Amino acid sequence: MHLSRFPRIFLAHLPTPLERLDRLTRELGGPEIWIKRDDCTGLSTGGNKTRKLEFLMAEAEAMGADLVMTQGATQSNHARQTAAFAAKLGMKCHILLEDRTGSNDPTYNHNGNVLLDHLHGATTEKRAGGLDMNAEMEALADHLRKDGRKVYTIVGGGSNPTGALGYANCAFELVGQANDRGLVIDHLVTATGSAGTQAGLIVGLKAINANIPLLGFSVRAPKASQEENVFNLALKTAEKIGCPDVVKRADVVANSDYVGPGYGIPREDTLQAIQMFAELEGILLDPVYSGKGAAGLIDYCRKGRFKKGERVVFLHTGGAAGLFGYAAVFADGHRTAAE
Ligand SMILES: *Cc1c(COP(=O)(O)O)cnc(C)c1O
Repeated sequence: MHLSRFPRIFLAHLPTPLERLDRLTRELGGPEIWIKRDDCTGLSTGGNKTRKLEFLMAEAEAMGADLVMTQGATQSNHARQTAAFAAKLGMKCHILLEDRTGSNDPTYNHNGNVLLDHLHGATTEKRAGGLDMNAEMEALADHLRKDGRKVYTIVGGGSNPTGALGYANCAFELVGQANDRGLVIDHLVTATGSAGTQAGLIVGLKAINANIPLLGFSVRAPKASQEENVFNLALKTAEKIGCPDVVKRADVVANSDYVGPGYGIPREDTLQAIQMFAELEGILLDPVYSGKGAAGLIDYCRKGRFKKGERVVFLHTGGAAGLFGYAAVFADGHRTAAE
């Protein structure tokens, strides 16, 4: 497998650091916890969409696009990073934002990622929750194409086989770092949403026979449908890179116990995870994705599902810009990490 055969615009700050979290490890008293800092990929405060967009935006450039369109929830990190990438390439960017949480909070609707979308020069347009957002986007794109625009559309989260290449590459990068330091990884965990991150990682891990189990903590869908989405995308991604048989259904494992009340709505354990990383490690998580993934990680350590002596790597997918859209959930008092 040779990813250089695919068009890519090199812009991410890579390799992202792989660091040990000593204070969190001590606090939890279980396995050794490591973090892969994909919150540090660059591009408008960083996050996991940078790696996907390197491949996606190369396709946009190759087709001579003058307008990039994508869609996501109001506080979409993917939308913000797409807006920044389009700015870098001198393309216009238009974003459809779905009201997935029903929040009327002006901070949620205008601060955080929304503020940054506009700062990067993107235009945004709201849609009611529950619509088929990719269909909405394609309908609008077709309309603009009839007016002569060259529109490149990106599915929600950048999760198609092209975007997932970025995470196959991340798997190679991570295993390379671990090999260079003599680190044996027993578990790799991450938040999983539109599935491209988990699908790309599993393809990369399996293609090099890394023998590292990957667990995705769902931020929205129930376990069965999340696993199905990841598996289907992994099959297509594996085929794209020329190793169609590497991923088996059993390799795809998700857990949806930490979603809480729903997508984009943090639960107490989400907020506690954010507080722990902030206070013990000086690292910012977010209330939609990485905070829920970390809540799962912390609970698995406390329950002994990850054991003392094992080494667990948490892939930090970013999202801290979203914190500023969620000021209200942090307003009701101070939590401390030890509580
Ligand atoms: C998009 C996103 C995820 C989920 O990644 P998928 O590839 O959509 O599964 C996780 N964390 C953050 C911060 C994100 O923005």
